[in-house]
Amino acid sequence: MIITVYIGAVGRSGTTLLERTLATSPRVTAVGEVVHLWNRGVRDDEPCGCGDTFLNCAFWTKVGVEAFGGWDRVDLIQLDLDRAIVDRNRYIPYLLLPQLAPPRFRASQGRLVDVLGNLYRGIAAAGSETGGDFIIDSSKHPSYLFLMRRVPGVDLRLLHVVRDPRGVAHSWSKRVMRPENGAPMEQLGSVRASLRWLGHNLLFELATRIGVRSERLPYEAFTADPTVLARSLDRLVPGGSPTKLAIVSRSITLGVDHTVSGNPLRFAAGSVELRADESWRTSLSKRSRLTIGVVTTPFRQLWARP
Ligand SMILES: [Zn+2]
Repeated sequence: MIITVYIGAVGRSGTTLLERTLATSPRVTAVGEVVHLWNRGVRDDEPCGCGDTFLNCAFWTKVGVEAFGGWDRVDLIQLDLDRAIVDRNRYIPYLLLPQLAPPRFRASQGRLVDVLGNLYRGIAAAGSETGGDFIIDSSKHPSYLFLMRRVPGVDLRLLHVVRDPRGVAHSWSKRVMRPENGAPMEQLGSVRASLRWLGHNLLFELATRIGVRSERLPYEAFTADPTVLARSLDRLVPGGSPTKLAIVSRSITLGVDHTVSGNPLRFAAGSVELRADESWRTSLSKRSRLTIGVVTTPFRQLWARP
């Protein structure tokens, strides 16, 4: 079985740095947000975290050959259709209870899990060449997690990262450009950001309740003491010697990772100082704080504890 640790979180929860910190362990093959691999990698040939474009990257070329005999053998049009039919949060009930799903959904899901089974087999094979014995996928989306539960050969674990919703909402309010193509990233107001924070985190909680092996990690616990990550990982994937991460005090020595998507930090290499981004404390309006408080209480307090 291919152990895959899925980082589940609402967007803007700091998961790119967290994933890259985990990737400093030689046991880990960290591949970024695989949910975006088909469009941003295979179709648009955006840069991999290593700096090469996706189709020129040696790691992803190996994955493509191992999984499909080459990326050009993948039917991207069919895949796009199938993903639109299956991989949406509103269809999670069908992913939970496939017997209720219409035949068209079941056919699309069948094709998708076959493709993903091959993909993760390819990633595991390419990663094992450098000593990786499990995969970290920071796709974050709830529906993709529930889809991954259905992928044959994948032993799924969930690292559920919860950041303070005030920090998340503040980040969603900022205008940020994607370095890959210069396009602005999505922005959300505090009502929508709070609702998304609540909805996504409840779905990860649901995954835990139905038996996905999980660890919840408050993002603020990681920024206070990054070594908590190694302990979370050892509880999620027990059996090896204790995980060692390249952390000295608050400095993390990042290597080169073949991440397909994520925030601009995925291109950083070398020493990075860990700083808690607490700018919301001074720049979030009273009105936004009140809105966020109304929507997210009492879960904010509940999930702030590991
Ligand atoms: Zn690469």
